[in-house]
Amino acid sequence: MLKIAYSPIYHHPLPPGHRFPMAKYSLIPEQLLYEGTCTEDNFFEPAKLSEKQILRTHTQEYWTKLKTNSLTRQEERKTGFPLTPKLVEREITICQGTIDNAKHALEYGISMNIAGGTHHAYANSGEGFCLLNDICLASHWLLDNNLANQILVVDLDVHQGNGTAKIMQSEKRVFTFSMHGEKNYPMHKESSDLDIELPDGTEDGLYLQTLENNLPRLIDEVQPDFIFFQSGVDVLATDKLGRLGLNMEGCKQRDKFVLERCKQNNIPVAVNMGGGYSHKLSDIVDAHANTFRLAQEIYF
Ligand SMILES: [Zn+2]
Repeated sequence: MLKIAYSPIYHHPLPPGHRFPMAKYSLIPEQLLYEGTCTEDNFFEPAKLSEKQILRTHTQEYWTKLKTNSLTRQEERKTGFPLTPKLVEREITICQGTIDNAKHALEYGISMNIAGGTHHAYANSGEGFCLLNDICLASHWLLDNNLANQILVVDLDVHQGNGTAKIMQSEKRVFTFSMHGEKNYPMHKESSDLDIELPDGTEDGLYLQTLENNLPRLIDEVQPDFIFFQSGVDVLATDKLGRLGLNMEGCKQRDKFVLERCKQNNIPVAVNMGGGYSHKLSDIVDAHANTFRLAQEIYF
């Protein structure tokens, strides 16, 4: 069964005119239910992440600041959100969702989160709409519990997974692969184990070819026994922050290629949604919904 982490807290109210498309977090599950891709049974509500688990990945100083709402104004501005206790609660729910997903993926082959992929969060700071790094938290959880020995992070969000790369820099059991826009945020990029930078305007053909040239080879070389897939849909040409030129079908083919490789190689995969900032909310919802539709088609 396709297990999907979701909680109403994912849709957090933001000030009017805020550029983050928060509504997608309630519209995507609604759409999946409406069209029959999922039933209520597919969804589960994650608990809150424990402090002990948070401190495995993040520094005490940073966590205390988040917990007590005492980031400096500059630190808060970098996150892109007006920080509130509820927003922090949202983040730790999402992160526990990704840990739960890791567990479910081991049982069912795949599991998904209606949020997450918070790959810009560092051990000691947040930025770019990311406070805590769910992929790193869940990777540490898997490794510490001897549930995985070699993890591959496939980060296809249009922005580099800078926080993930930095946190896992000296952790050899987590191979970080990020394919992203060369000219895009973050301006200062970290070194992933493999970075592929794509020129502005990259379209479906070149994008998919590049992915096909690299992912199967990486799976052979890294021999992962677990994969995290960050499936950001800000690769679309319609994206306000994206700079690449994929159309809806190209984005879907990308997800299909990744999920099929995971399935064929029998490697459990946890999928995190990542970013998506198309002008039309319906494009964002449709592109993300495709990832869930494909999961159902390919796995169940
Ligand atoms: Zn992004």
